[in-house]
Amino acid sequence: MVVISKIRNILKKESPFKGESDEFLYLIRLVTLSLGLYYLFLAVILTANTVKGYHTPVYVSAVLLFGVLISTYRIHPSVSLYMLSLVATLSSGVLTYAFGFRSSFHYVAYVVLFIFWYNPLDSVKRKLIYSVFIAVMITILTVNITARGLVYDFDGVWLRVVMVSNIIFSVSIFSVVAFFFCTKYVEAERMLRMYNKQLKKLSETDALTRLMNRRSSMDELADMEKQYNALGTQFCVAIGDIDFFKKVNDTYGHDAGDYILFSLGQLFTEYMKHYGFVARWGGEEFLFAFTGLNGDEAQVALDNLLVKIRKAEFDFGGTKIKITMTFGVEEYDAKIGLEKIIKSADEKLYLGKQSGRNIVIF
Ligand code: GH3
Ligand code: MG
Ligand code: MG
Repeated sequence: MVVISKIRNILKKESPFKGESDEFLYLIRLVTLSLGLYYLFLAVILTANTVKGYHTPVYVSAVLLFGVLISTYRIHPSVSLYMLSLVATLSSGVLTYAFGFRSSFHYVAYVVLFIFWYNPLDSVKRKLIYSVFIAVMITILTVNITARGLVYDFDGVWLRVVMVSNIIFSVSIFSVVAFFFCTKYVEAERMLRMYNKQLKKLSETDALTRLMNRRSSMDELADMEKQYNALGTQFCVAIGDIDFFKKVNDTYGHDAGDYILFSLGQLFTEYMKHYGFVARWGGEEFLFAFTGLNGDEAQVALDNLLVKIRKAEFDFGGTKIKITMTFGVEEYDAKIGLEKIIKSADEKLYLGKQSGRNIVIF
């Protein structure tokens, strides 16, 4: 176990090149080491048996692969992958030429092609070129060699040993690589979804009050407008502004002002749950949307809300602060359009301010 974790640590050693995928580099090293060790094992078996002379290319392949492995600690991971691909593909070609297709050495070329295609850092053009290269190599071999390759006397039990171990090795390494990409892909997708959700929420939310922000409320209103056009669902828009808020800031401090904005946001969210939505429209202004209500009904709902606001005592560090608000309401009318409806609600709010504040105007 200790040895395995030591080997893992060595294989996982970070790339000195910034912005590279360390996980991918780890995979390249793992495959290179496995293939190198495997060829070394085959070379020993072949040396000890009848097919003397033909073990040389297997040895050479193993040594080259170890060279590639060492190089991954010094050169760019993409270059390391090129080297692994080149050595593994050419050696699988040479070994297929020597031992024939039945020996199944050519499968390694496909496994490396699979890794090559998944390289997140390379271009599709180069990947296509590599695919063509493999196709040409396999075609040339298929046309030019006999089923058994050069080793005519390589038959019987040793051919079967090499064949079976090649197949087992290729399928195993392919499965490891596929598992690696599968889990990475699923994990990457999960993270992406999570970040997307967080980003979307952040971009739609006002940081202080946690209410919907102005941009997002415009999207919601546009949806309500569509529903009105499609189903005739009536709705109203109101703008509310805190009365003499500047005085609150000046008297109790900006933090107290922030605290009131936040607390009001919570009160509004709770109240508007059954009516529609509320958003922070600007500094100390809020936008309210009432679905399925006409102007008179929305005015009643806001009058009731204003009663709650007047009653509320905002406790900021022991200091109890009371406020009032002024509202302007407008009923949606398709002939007038959303922008003008909002403007009209704003004008009514202004009228309310002029008439002494602390009132709902429709
Ligand atoms: P009126 O009744 O006419 O609306 O008077 P007002 O004082 O509320 O209006 P005015 O537009 O003069 O001032 C608005 C104040 O709201 C000024 C600004 O400092 C304050 N304000 C705006 N955004 C924030 C905020 O995020 N936090 C705090 N604490 N104050 C804010
Ligand atoms: Mg204002
Ligand atoms: Mg104000």
